[in-house]
Amino acid sequence: MILIGVDGLSHRFLEAHVQDLPFFRTMMKKNYNAIEIREDDALSAVMWNSVFAGIPPSQVPLRNYHIGDRMVKYDEIPFRKRYLWEKRKFTVISAPVVLPTYSNINLDLVNRGLTLEKDECEENMHRIFDAAMEHKDGDLIVCFTEIDRVEHFHWNKPELLETYKLLDDLLKQLLEGYKGNFIIFSDHGFRDIPEEGGILDASTGITGDHDPVQIFMGTKRVEYTTDLYWMVLQGDLDDPRA
Ligand SMILES: [Zn+2]
Repeated sequence: MILIGVDGLSHRFLEAHVQDLPFFRTMMKKNYNAIEIREDDALSAVMWNSVFAGIPPSQVPLRNYHIGDRMVKYDEIPFRKRYLWEKRKFTVISAPVVLPTYSNINLDLVNRGLTLEKDECEENMHRIFDAAMEHKDGDLIVCFTEIDRVEHFHWNKPELLETYKLLDDLLKQLLEGYKGNFIIFSDHGFRDIPEEGGILDASTGITGDHDPVQIFMGTKRVEYTTDLYWMVLQGDLDDPRA
């Protein structure tokens, strides 16, 4: 199976630009499900840990990637033994359960994957894709945080479509001819900055805001954030040929 996480993958953007995104146009007919989550949970640290540890979003103890001004380390996460890759064998590429992201293979990313520069984000997408292509023979978890990074400062700007087109093309290539089960999913979406409230701090110069909507699509329908975890453990996504 291949599980593909895309941070900040926006149902609004996909639905508005579906004509320019041929791969997603097909995928959005494949068990596509946009589910509302709580605003308090529309944070990457919460949602990725929820998905990969099978903990309901509101109960994830790690609400941020940092404690005070220092980043949380992978080995400090009290529930890390719950992660899917602790329960069965996966190649893990850039899972955003911590930052910098967690991989169990060598992965060299520009600025350890933390860059907010669009060009560097796109370079990192290529590197993550290359690593995924090398490991797609076995069960694979691969995540891209770059869409969210680019969205923070390019939401409502035409060049955002370039980054989405790149993702569309890379995922098409990754899944071309793939016979196993796969699920593509987000942690949260992206939206215009609301007049009041908002999830991100608008004083940081961001051009958009997290959207409390998570999407799933792929060979099986996923109804809710933690379902994917149990589907994997119950064997619902095992290779149909095995
Ligand atoms: Zn974000």
